[in-house]
Amino acid sequence: MIKPLATFTIEGYEVLIFLYPSIIHGGFTLVACGTTQNDELLVQHECEVCRDSSSIANCPYVRSAIKLYKESQKKVVHKVNLLKHQIGLHERFVQVSTPDPENINIDERG
Ligand SMILES: [Zn+2]
Repeated sequence: MIKPLATFTIEGYEVLIFLYPSIIHGGFTLVACGTTQNDELLVQHECEVCRDSSSIANCPYVRSAIKLYKESQKKVVHKVNLLKHQIGLHERFVQVSTPDPENINIDERG
């Protein structure tokens, strides 16, 4: 699984934005994950890998981000809504520690 270089949130919102190293051109690509009031997961992303696809569901960045978001937020997600839209860094992003699913699993066992 591709791991993010950094993770951000926006104050006041239940959202995580994952920054991944780009596997094509260098640089980076972003995936935003947030939960709606109906416990639906909203994912926003577009990159060179998925730009020509009809859906972003199979993009490796999106798959990694959904897994990390679900495991770190311990959310029961009823539905995943995918929005194909490129996102850029924003001054409102606040960096947080990147979730580590392996550590989360250890905590739950203990
Ligand atoms: Zn993509």
